[in-house]
Amino acid sequence: MPKDFLKDAQDEYDVIVIGSGLAGMTAANMLGATGYRVLLLEQHYKLGGMATWFKRPGGHIFDISLHGFPYGMVKSCRRYWTREIADSIVQLNHIRFDNPMFSLTTSFNREDFTKLLIEQFQVAPEAVHGFFDAARKMDFQDDQHLTTRELFDRFFPGREDVIRLLMEPITYANGSTLEDPAISYGIVFSNFMSKGVYTFRGGTDRLIGLMEAELKRNSVDIRIRCDVERIHCEGGRVTGVEVGGRVIKTKAVVSNANLKQTIFRLVGEEKFEPQFVEDAQAVRLNNSSTQVYMALKADDTIDESTGDLLFSSTAPVFRTDLLLSRDITSRTYSFYYPRTRPEGRPRCLIVSSTNARYEDWAELSEEDYAESKLDLVETTLDALDKYVPNVRERIDHAEASTPMTFKHYTQHVAGASFGTKFEGLRVSFDIPKQIEGLYHAGSVGIIMSGWLGAMNYGRMVASDVDNLLTTKGSRPAASIAD
Ligand SMILES: Cc1cc2nc3c(=O)[nH]c(=O)nc-3n(C[C@H](O)[C@H](O)[C@H](O)COP(=O)(O)OP(=O)(O)OC[C@H]3O[C@@H](n4cnc5c(N)ncnc54)[C@H](O)[C@@H]3O)c2cc1C
Repeated sequence: MPKDFLKDAQDEYDVIVIGSGLAGMTAANMLGATGYRVLLLEQHYKLGGMATWFKRPGGHIFDISLHGFPYGMVKSCRRYWTREIADSIVQLNHIRFDNPMFSLTTSFNREDFTKLLIEQFQVAPEAVHGFFDAARKMDFQDDQHLTTRELFDRFFPGREDVIRLLMEPITYANGSTLEDPAISYGIVFSNFMSKGVYTFRGGTDRLIGLMEAELKRNSVDIRIRCDVERIHCEGGRVTGVEVGGRVIKTKAVVSNANLKQTIFRLVGEEKFEPQFVEDAQAVRLNNSSTQVYMALKADDTIDESTGDLLFSSTAPVFRTDLLLSRDITSRTYSFYYPRTRPEGRPRCLIVSSTNARYEDWAELSEEDYAESKLDLVETTLDALDKYVPNVRERIDHAEASTPMTFKHYTQHVAGASFGTKFEGLRVSFDIPKQIEGLYHAGSVGIIMSGWLGAMNYGRMVASDVDNLLTTKGSRPAASIAD
């Protein structure tokens, strides 16, 4: 008999959350803490979505998306999760760039960038201060017509080297390009510039373990291996969710699944107004990425001056098409030193990431796909040798993931690592105006993407759900959060 992952689940919940990415888990946690009866359904066998990890023989643990996030995570984790989680967030001090235009190491905050731009790049101080102030003032309600390229040209005309320094890390962090609206760049860039780049001590496995414990403490009913097939809506309202051959009733659904999957697969376009469907169809997915995961033999260490994050490129200039090309010239390395997971034997791991197009991988035959993955590993080891000498002899394990891998594990359409382009934001926000009780929370519009964006979006949507259920008289009388 196959295992029933919904055994003893109730027939009705106040809220059902579909997907346990950081947005889904945060929404579920806030609503559980308020005292609502919450069901969290995850199709994978693990919680976390893209915030996940995997283990390999030899005691290696690889993080998929723990490369760096802004300081804002400390506040969000303290408010929406626990002090223990917030207190485990630590700064990455060595952010390195190495490309034909410049090589430098920075603490990646406004103070250090200002110094670098004025002293090393010889930019006029007024231009530097003006740029930082303009980026900081940006809000997602602002003009969307100004592109990031136009923003840079306003302050640093003709300075391709400056653009590269300012843009390369953000392209890596959320897939945004010079052609995207400047606000999607400015908001994310300013978040990082406030205090630098941070990580989670103990790794993603520890973080998700702590989050799971907190969800349970807040009585969230967590079910893994539960692939939601349908969200039921009647008379313009959500009524339930179909999963594992059952329909479970609810007044509110938060979908953390991909925006397009939520609208077109889980609900069905016939439930929405034609104009909304047209807008949703026009939403462009963000790009995906490839990664190569490498572990050195236990006890072999790398000097920390190699960097925590290293933006390396052999391309003479910074251009979107070069970043996405199968002919890889840019790689971002994350170095995980023994302090990441201080227990056990000292271990150093390296993850190399490169932005990529889904179609470049999806259209390969099985044989070519396997060969391309091997080639990706080999060429990455060649490139890494510059920073980790004799890496081939020192390596214990190496393997690659592709856009297909991300699609397989999270069901993201086209393996999108960072949700959708900017226009997805409005469509995601408007879902509850189309169907009462239906919400989307998850990577969209570049701004709501990444660990911090996803978590904050989950919190925002939890508030909206709470408001709806309060107006319906369904708010628990004595809520834990009050
Ligand atoms: C390679 C890579 C590196 C990254 N690096 C960073 C980084 O360094 N810093 C940073 O801030 N961000 C990074 N990101 C982005 C960040 O990980 C994501 O933006 C964020 O984790 C997404 O969270 P989310 O809430 O949108 O949900 P997701 O993580 O996308 O999770 C969605 C969940 O929904 C589940 N689901 C989907 N459909 C169904 C269904 N029908 N039924 C049940 N469950 C379903 C999926 O299985 C998944 O668990 C990276 C992403 C990738 C891919």
